[in-house]
Amino acid sequence: MTTPGASNSTPGTLYVVATPIGNLDDISARALKVLGDVALIAAEDTRHSARLMQHFGIATPLAACHEHNERDQGGRFLARLLAGEDVALISDAGTPLISDPGYHLVRQARAAGVAVVPVPGACALIAALSAAGLPSDRFIFEGFLPAKTAGRRARLEQVKEEPRTLIFYEAPHRILECLEDMQAVFGDERPALLAREISKTFETLKGLPLAELRAWVAADSNQQRGECVVLVAGWQAPEGEAAISAEALRVLDLLLGELPLKRAAALAAEITGVRKNLLYQAALERQKDA
Ligand code: SAM
Repeated sequence: MTTPGASNSTPGTLYVVATPIGNLDDISARALKVLGDVALIAAEDTRHSARLMQHFGIATPLAACHEHNERDQGGRFLARLLAGEDVALISDAGTPLISDPGYHLVRQARAAGVAVVPVPGACALIAALSAAGLPSDRFIFEGFLPAKTAGRRARLEQVKEEPRTLIFYEAPHRILECLEDMQAVFGDERPALLAREISKTFETLKGLPLAELRAWVAADSNQQRGECVVLVAGWQAPEGEAAISAEALRVLDLLLGELPLKRAAALAAEITGVRKNLLYQAALERQKDA
């Protein structure tokens, strides 16, 4: 670590430090050491972070680095880094840059040849995913959805057939309308999970199909408070008859009225472009039900 005000030709390091998302015990020993050792802490909200630093007995000076001044003030932090001082970047909670400021500073630092070192820790989306029981091998993070229904539904439509687990951040006063729109776009049965107040007193993780989850939240105003992450299972391609369009089934039915089953399925496949085997299986099912 460099001493404050030191000037040498080697740039300092920008540490990107995760802070707790609720439970203060979640801060790492390494994060505390880095925050205590750097010359300056660039913080999203200095008053908020001052309380955290006071709690841990850290006296390092804080300077504001939020979304409104980040581009302009980046030069100020960069000058300190280029003068050889180490700087830590923190946000109000969790990992900086994840739906939080810091992107411009990190970019500027890297472009200037300053080493940028992550100090990992809490992140609400990863905490929620780790306990959700939804597929976690592949997932996408959509951040915050637009605040108004039309924009929100348009964004949801874009990921309607996304096969990976979907993760969203949402404000508590919008959680109910958000779940309503998710139900409308993804359907009643899509598995979902609401992770609320992670690591805090009223921590709640509730997993249900979307229609039931929406009804559960609507019935209890307590579930419309606090901080929340919504996870939705990825889209699964329908199987069997559900995978065949209504039009293809109509063609199949017409041909089944005139031709033997195998021939009807083959001809329907030629006309509609649907796989012959799928139509053959559908024809067998229809014959069974007849
Ligand atoms: N940088 C943070 C992170 O690493 O998760 C996220 C910051 S973003 C401004 C705040 C949003 O994160 C909240 O609106 C909520 O969606 C989510 N969040 C943060 N803390 C949370 C918690 N304890 N429980 C559930 N969600 C949380």
